Amino acid sequence: MTAHNPTHDSRQQLVIIGNGMVGHHCVEQLIERGATEHYRIHVFGEERHRAYDRVHLSEYFSGKDADALALGEPDLHKTHGVELHLGTRISAIDRDAREVVTPEGRLGYDSLIIATGSYPFVPPVPGPDSDMHPQARLVYRTLDDLDAIRSHAKTARRGVVIGGGLLGLEAANALRSLGLEAHVVEFAPRLMPVQLDEQGGIALREHIEGLGVGVHVGRATEEIAALSAGDDYRYRMHFKGGETLDTDMVVFSAGIRPQDQLARDCGLEIGERGGIVIDDSCRTSDPEIFALGECALWQGRLFGLVAPGYTMARTVAGCLTGGEERFSGADMSTKLKLLGVDVGSIGDAHGVTEGAKSYRWIDEAGSGYRRLVVSADGKKVLGAVLVGDNSYYDTLLQYAQNGIDLPENPASLILPQSEGGVPTLGADALPDTATICSCHNVTKGAVCQAVDAGCADIAALKIETKASTGCGGCTALLKQVFENELESRGMEVDRSLCEHFAYTRQELYALVRVEGITRFEELLDRHGHGLGCDICKPTIGSILATCWNQPIMDPQNVALQDTNDTFMANMQKNGTYSVMPRVAGGEITPEKLVVLGEVARKYNLYTKITGGQRIDLFGAELHQLPDIWQELISAGFETGHAYGKSIRTVKSCVGNTWCRYGVQDSVGMALELEHRYKGLRTPHKIKMGVSGCTRECAEAQGKDIGVIATEAGWNLYVCGNGGMRPRHAELFATDIDSDTLIRYIDRFLMFYVRTADKLQRTSVWRESLEGGLDYLKEVIIDDSLGLGEELEAQMKHVIDTYECEWANALGDPEKLKRFRTFVNDQCGDPDIVNVTERGQPRPARADERPESLAVEISS
Ligand SMILES: Cc1cc2nc3c(=O)[nH]c(=O)nc-3n(C[C@H](O)[C@H](O)[C@H](O)COP(=O)(O)OP(=O)(O)OC[C@H]3O[C@@H](n4cnc5c(N)ncnc54)[C@H](O)[C@@H]3O)c2cc1C
Ligand code: SF4
Repeated sequence: MTAHNPTHDSRQQLVIIGNGMVGHHCVEQLIERGATEHYRIHVFGEERHRAYDRVHLSEYFSGKDADALALGEPDLHKTHGVELHLGTRISAIDRDAREVVTPEGRLGYDSLIIATGSYPFVPPVPGPDSDMHPQARLVYRTLDDLDAIRSHAKTARRGVVIGGGLLGLEAANALRSLGLEAHVVEFAPRLMPVQLDEQGGIALREHIEGLGVGVHVGRATEEIAALSAGDDYRYRMHFKGGETLDTDMVVFSAGIRPQDQLARDCGLEIGERGGIVIDDSCRTSDPEIFALGECALWQGRLFGLVAPGYTMARTVAGCLTGGEERFSGADMSTKLKLLGVDVGSIGDAHGVTEGAKSYRWIDEAGSGYRRLVVSADGKKVLGAVLVGDNSYYDTLLQYAQNGIDLPENPASLILPQSEGGVPTLGADALPDTATICSCHNVTKGAVCQAVDAGCADIAALKIETKASTGCGGCTALLKQVFENELESRGMEVDRSLCEHFAYTRQELYALVRVEGITRFEELLDRHGHGLGCDICKPTIGSILATCWNQPIMDPQNVALQDTNDTFMANMQKNGTYSVMPRVAGGEITPEKLVVLGEVARKYNLYTKITGGQRIDLFGAELHQLPDIWQELISAGFETGHAYGKSIRTVKSCVGNTWCRYGVQDSVGMALELEHRYKGLRTPHKIKMGVSGCTRECAEAQGKDIGVIATEAGWNLYVCGNGGMRPRHAELFATDIDSDTLIRYIDRFLMFYVRTADKLQRTSVWRESLEGGLDYLKEVIIDDSLGLGEELEAQMKHVIDTYECEWANALGDPEKLKRFRTFVNDQCGDPDIVNVTERGQPRPARADERPESLAVEISS
């Protein structure tokens, strides 16, 4: 590797050191602004992984792997000709030669960006040799750090984190999730001393101790001593004053330091306490070199959050492509959930501004605390501290950020809702400059513009503006502003199902269930008007089917179905139908395989194995469907519901029955799940998968419900999706036994059925759920709404009343009358013409059809 530029390339050379969150965002911004036309870009990342979401690093311990945490599209660099060098550390910058030193040699640059982030600070506490005792000096910053923690945790019972700040508490939670007894040791007299005041620290401590995490504040660690083999633990921590604490591993999370060594070595200006000095355009003391993210020091300030780094990235991308953005500092307010406890800190949380006054609300019994800091004249919010409930955060932040005048009684902003109601700041009150999403710097004005440009739902708005795709903290506010904007444009946020029912699907579901309504007409009479349409009929048909499990071919239900449901088969492009019997879990006997082959041969059907591990028989004419199904049902098959908005398949791998790696019987579980939920009608189709180990051969994490075997039981994933809008499923529960697994799935499915919108896949439903995954866990696992038993009972009713829809139809001559191609004739459709390809029939193309059939019909 040499030279500034290959001779054939006239573009300038741009080198980026650091492929972390900010370095990566900078690359995305450069690409978006067309920088690759003018620059040949090289990115060097010391870590071996693609850039990943460090903010959600802890999710690595709750099931997400490096791919799931990765940022951006996997082929982003390749697609845009950006050269990405992973696992490659830059060891020096030669400013005279304008070159960086890589392990392979030197590489020239015209412009250079340093985005090297921070490193964890490990105080020089005397202790055992770290080569011999790596578990006494662990840190929590990278995926490799987490791998090391996980590996040492396997042989440990207790772990201690040194540092009670944001990252320390995340690390303690990680230790807890690995099954260790976790302790936090903090030098300051309270937890999170930077963000919280004294009372906030006390409230947080109570919460955290309540979770079984040991909290030791005001402790200075003087030594970590190795214990001998016969002792209960491996190390003894000695604190100033003589106290001790024994542990098997120690994780240091005592702050971070800017990774500025390269810049120091090449003579760039460095701040007194570290950090590469930058100006408003993020240039260092060398105008050809930029620095951004956690390694950069602006006006004496370092920024340990991702949003300011992203703003710097946009600034640098702008500088290099003719833009005019400037970095002007950043708000360091934070809204977090630490070990499940809401913590918020806004602006001047400690009330240090001259004349500042505070309102405080303290709930000693529930360890709740809220403090509102206002200006000397009592008119503006300066800051706030929240512990235990962040629902006040968005409103307080908007007051603080936008200098909005306080209401007459400022204390009402932090009082519990039941004590007079919190006057939430309507979206109308926000100025256009109000920041809605700090990660991507999306203002209310930008949201308004996107609505003007045609964004009609939240999903489109997210794609257009990127709002709420960073840390996700602004989801609720974004929705509020969006709906307000629609309303203010006279575009009523119409939540009715259709013109015939002024109710949402969820409301109609409740009406059907509460009033015991079993027929569409009855619902229309009582709560709707007109005759119904293609939207309300299938939706209500699905609700009735879920609630009462009536056969969809019953006369009162037939008119509610769409074509596929009406004939219990999927219509294909040439007007024929496909036949898909259930092959639960993908397991099938040789005898049944033979039957499928014989039926296919007899009726000249094209056969194909589907992605859901079933065998689909294509090309059946309408009048043939009953005969085909008669033969299949006699051989022990039943309908596979491939036509319905219902549970489709449960894909499985062979599991521990055959596979050397398997740890549970994935096929057995898949069969159990598929037979349990078959027949359940849902707002949209549902797919499931069960894998016998983490190798994930059944691709369960791409399903609405994914189950992955662990040595201790099962991990449950929810709301994944393949297809048009892929979404990785999220880990919902770990190491649960089979009964718990089934109980959670019962509740999950019924809660989805009850609350989702029409034709909403679980993935989209999940995106729209206020409170997100945590809320879903509260409802399903903690039963926060007290609905658990009811949901399970509803599911039991569906399971107990299951009946194969095809078997039911075959037993009723009236129902079979529908399966005629021509009303007064039993013969087939002469317009269906097949040709043979690869030994099987397929629909003839226009040029393959006999001329006599190509008749143009004129009126
Ligand atoms: C557990 C955890 C939780 C967090 N939670 C939040 C949160 O809730 N909200 C929030 O805003 N922020 C949070 N943060 C902070 C956030 O992750 C950082 O602000 C952000 O990652 C900074 O991005 P960066 O690119 O500047 O640095 P980094 O993401 O650290 O990336 C720097 C990269 O440069 C590489 N590098 C360094 N030197 C070299 C070299 N010489 N050659 C090649 N490569 C090099 C490093 O290996 C690293 O990959 C959290 C951080 C952690 C660790
Ligand atoms: S997921 Fe695991 S158990 Fe299942 S087939 Fe793959 S390796 Fe085997």
